[in-house]
Amino acid sequence: MSSVLRIALQKNGRLSEDSYQLFKECGIRFDYGTGKLKSVSSNFPAEFLFLRDDDIPGYVEDGVADLGIVGENVAVETGRPVTTIHKLGFSKCRLSIAVPRGVDWTGIQHLDGKNIATSYPNLLGKYLAEQGVRAEIHEISGSVEIAPSIGLAEAVCDIVSSGSTLLSNGLKEVETIFRSEAILIARPQLDADKQSLVDKLLFRIKSVQAAKNNKYIVLNAPNHALDEITALLPGMKSPTVTPLATEGWSSVHSVLNENEFWENIEAIRAAGAEGILVIPIEKMIY
Ligand code: ATP
Ligand code: MG
Repeated sequence: MSSVLRIALQKNGRLSEDSYQLFKECGIRFDYGTGKLKSVSSNFPAEFLFLRDDDIPGYVEDGVADLGIVGENVAVETGRPVTTIHKLGFSKCRLSIAVPRGVDWTGIQHLDGKNIATSYPNLLGKYLAEQGVRAEIHEISGSVEIAPSIGLAEAVCDIVSSGSTLLSNGLKEVETIFRSEAILIARPQLDADKQSLVDKLLFRIKSVQAAKNNKYIVLNAPNHALDEITALLPGMKSPTVTPLATEGWSSVHSVLNENEFWENIEAIRAAGAEGILVIPIEKMIY
């Protein structure tokens, strides 16, 4: 029987939509939705399992799944010996310590002898040990941010992205202990057939990510400024330059990292470029 990759995804949560979208952009089709626990792709040798995110590292370690997508925070907290094979760039968040707004925060030593509520006892414990702080860790599985107001703890350590949840619970963020994003994890010893499917998948993921970070640029340039402008738009190999119908002008086509584009746009315009178009790229194969 030929190999099928088993991939564990979060069933319903902050990782789910972006995970499903990633496979869609990689051209891998499968059904998901209410109540579905498993789904087989119709056009790639993969089977998807829909699980709670906390369970994914364990299933990948045990070999129930070959791959999984989880937050780095969960992968590190569970401490399972799985391999991180790629960072996915979505579900970015941080694990932070927060205290009631009125507290006069003077540094991490403030937590000596205090109670801290968290769902991340391992990450927090390691951080406190590194900082030489002795505090009591209260592990709770959800709604951590209400712990100070009900008298359960003097501080919390929880996932933050915008900080609005902390704010609405009268807390302020004082220390970031871990930065996280979604990652693709794998079982350490995959057989050669499965490894070659993982390589195929990774190739597609990298092409999708590269396309997202780059833009196709088209602009008109006076011929006397071509050297200067093309130097600012190196492209994948070099820019395409074709003459315009208007004498003395050319059209320049190139690919540029979006950040570089914004950094260079003033110089490109100052050199005389006009009619600049910035176009999204769907896939980018190096
Ligand atoms: P499950 O029911 O699957 O156990 P959960 O409630 O534990 O879900 P979610 O809140 O869906 O988990 O978060 C999943 C992951 O998404 C987190 O482990 C973290 O990596 C990331 N995450 C959490 N909160 C945010 C946020 N506000 N913004 C971006 N990413 C986040
Ligand atoms: Mg969870």
